[in-house]
Amino acid sequence: AMRHLPYFCRGEVVKGFGRGSKELGIPTANFSEQVVESFPSDISTGIYYGWACVGNGDVHKMVLSIGWNPFYRNIKKSVETHIIHTFKEDFYGEILSIVIIGYIRPEKNFDSLEALISAIQEDIAEAKRQLDLPEYLKLKEDNFFHLPEGKIVNNH
Ligand code: ADP
Ligand code: MG
Repeated sequence: AMRHLPYFCRGEVVKGFGRGSKELGIPTANFSEQVVESFPSDISTGIYYGWACVGNGDVHKMVLSIGWNPFYRNIKKSVETHIIHTFKEDFYGEILSIVIIGYIRPEKNFDSLEALISAIQEDIAEAKRQLDLPEYLKLKEDNFFHLPEGKIVNNH
């Protein structure tokens, strides 16, 4: 599950499936299908943590979901990043750069929206804790976040 990590990737933020993540207070920036298809096919679905940056902006902590979303019975694979930061505006069409660092848990079905939201809040707390570890903080400063677009696709 972890052998692809850390995984560096960047791509355009596109409109998602209108699940109303934002209404839940947890907006997720969706990558384009092209970016999703470039992921290793054997990367485990589930919830991950790492660092993210929009355009040339600051690098923030993030949680990311990869895969089928059982709660919404999705028919498409998705890679969605919730950046742990409050943005003034949406950033559809911008380039999102991420490094995926660690795995939190597999995807799950939830009995209620409340259960889903509280699981995500726990994921966010776990991401915040993990990313403060020195070895992970280091990746925040990685050149990947400062180099011109397209120079590095990922580190493998
Ligand atoms: P969609 O279904 O289009 O992905 P969401 O409800 O998941 O809609 O909202 C995602 C959008 O919200 C992102 O594409 C981005 O433009 C915006 N956004 C604002 N703040 C954040 C954030 N902290 N993390 C991720 N996306 C954010
Ligand atoms: Mg989304």
